Amino acid sequence: MSWTLPMDGGCRCGAVRFRIDAAPMMSMACHCTGCQRMSGSAFSLTVMVPTAGFRLTEGETVRGGLREGAAHHQHCDACKSWVFTRVEPDMGFVNVRATMLDDTDWFEPFVESWTDEKLAWVTTPARHSFAQFPPMEAYQPLMAEFAALHAT
Ligand SMILES: [Zn+2]
Ligand SMILES: [Zn+2]
Repeated sequence: MSWTLPMDGGCRCGAVRFRIDAAPMMSMACHCTGCQRMSGSAFSLTVMVPTAGFRLTEGETVRGGLREGAAHHQHCDACKSWVFTRVEPDMGFVNVRATMLDDTDWFEPFVESWTDEKLAWVTTPARHSFAQFPPMEAYQPLMAEFAALHAT
């Protein structure tokens, strides 16, 4: 399945809107307890996109979550939706919460992380599972496989 760009999305109340105009690099589900708590659900869903291919088109976000460390979880200040996470210093990507997209029909997690902490009954269709985060050296081959899946 090839990409239909741009992809638009926004928070629960619509004060924050964003646009993705570069091909996603990966799709993921994270089962860690931090994602469970911030999402209010069993896991978080991520579309990993190049930093240059992501921008806010309406509103501003504020930092939420633990507000420490390299991961900056960005939330709508009005409705408190967790909209995206960026890493500082920038590592070239932004993790957008997949459920903020206007069109989620295409979305399926390709990788799942932190199965060590997942709720016992949860299963996902992810093709690759990791007990914690994938090791750094795993990202390049995973992204290549993901790109090949979406090349046609
Ligand atoms: Zn909002
Ligand atoms: Zn997580």
